[in-house]
Amino acid sequence: MPSQPQSGRRQRAVNFSDDDWEPGRAAAEQVGDNRNNVIERLYAWWLRRPGAELPERPPQEVIDQADAAWEALKTEIAAEALKLPCTVCDVAAGPCLMGKGKGKRPSKGFHRPRFTAATAIVKERYGDTSDD
Ligand SMILES: [Zn+2]
Repeated sequence: MPSQPQSGRRQRAVNFSDDDWEPGRAAAEQVGDNRNNVIERLYAWWLRRPGAELPERPPQEVIDQADAAWEALKTEIAAEALKLPCTVCDVAAGPCLMGKGKGKRPSKGFHRPRFTAATAIVKERYGDTSDD
């Protein structure tokens, strides 16, 4: 169970690229940090808060490893998603159908609910129960 935020703090929702968000977790952990701290320090610096400093960047090899791990996980998630039904395009299995009207065609991408469900299955496989 996540810890309760202090007064004046609460969870915020922002849109973030999976390809930055996911490897960012591993990269932050590799340097003894976490994404929340990194984002807060970046934002404080951006707002020119007194004393705010940019967080230290991870070494390139740490980022490369985190990117490679995310790419491998994405491949596994895609394989899992292909086995699930999609509630958006109504396919029982196989690629999602994307496009407008009669132009719907099989896609390499997945509708978000299906991708999220497949991600949960794969993360559960590795004992990762975080929903971020
Ligand atoms: Zn779909």
